Amino acid sequence: MKILISNDDGYQAPGIVALHAALSSVAEVEVVAPEHNNSAKSNALTLHSPLYVHTAHNGFRYVNGTPADCVHIALTGLLGYRPDLVVSGINNGANMGDDTIYSGTVGAAMEGYLFGIPSIAFSQVDKGWQELEAAAHTARQLVLQLQAQQQIGEHPWLLNVNVPNLPLPALRPLKLCRLGRRHAAERVIVQQSPRGETMYWIGGAGAAKDDSEGTDFHATAQGHVAVTPLKVDLTDHHSLDNWAALAAQFAHNSPTPTKVL
Ligand code: MN
Repeated sequence: MKILISNDDGYQAPGIVALHAALSSVAEVEVVAPEHNNSAKSNALTLHSPLYVHTAHNGFRYVNGTPADCVHIALTGLLGYRPDLVVSGINNGANMGDDTIYSGTVGAAMEGYLFGIPSIAFSQVDKGWQELEAAAHTARQLVLQLQAQQQIGEHPWLLNVNVPNLPLPALRPLKLCRLGRRHAAERVIVQQSPRGETMYWIGGAGAAKDDSEGTDFHATAQGHVAVTPLKVDLTDHHSLDNWAALAAQFAHNSPTPTKVL
């Protein structure tokens, strides 16, 4: 089994070091990860400046780009082979509910998935790397289990995994979850720069809004490892009929496009 590892916290982050150590005992692994922290970069690709790849002393390759850049260039030429699995993380902090839209950790895994490769994003629920070994052990166990169940093959899928920062004996079993929801983010933070200019800092993510039973928020609060299968189709399938009626009326009322100034 060949595994490509990436993350969004950067190639020196404790999370990717622990993930690499855990998975290199069960597979051939290669790391291609961002040079710097790229949290909240989602699936962004760098199109207007060149990317450079360097190799660190430990063999990790790092790129002056985003998580999706790393996986993209790895899969389109850098590796020279097709990995069986793409694993991203372990992230410093939760990626639950709406976080998955913004997350660079999920973005790296999603890039693998878009290339038709089974992919997993791992995050620890709390920041600060407490009980990182337990999260790394969980990652290895899940990969081994998926391999034993012959899920790691030609058919792509995308799993989002959040691990509570608990010691291994206290971690409760995997729980299959849907994504919860967060409240809208906290207010922007406004400060004066030393040169008298106004600076705006994006505020923190909102607190959980839907953390009811069945969500990732609920499962991790109970000490479970939360596993959510993700898809990429953003179509609102439930509202297609409603919009079809509106679209028909729209077409009827305006047979030719009108220029609005
Ligand atoms: Mn991160």
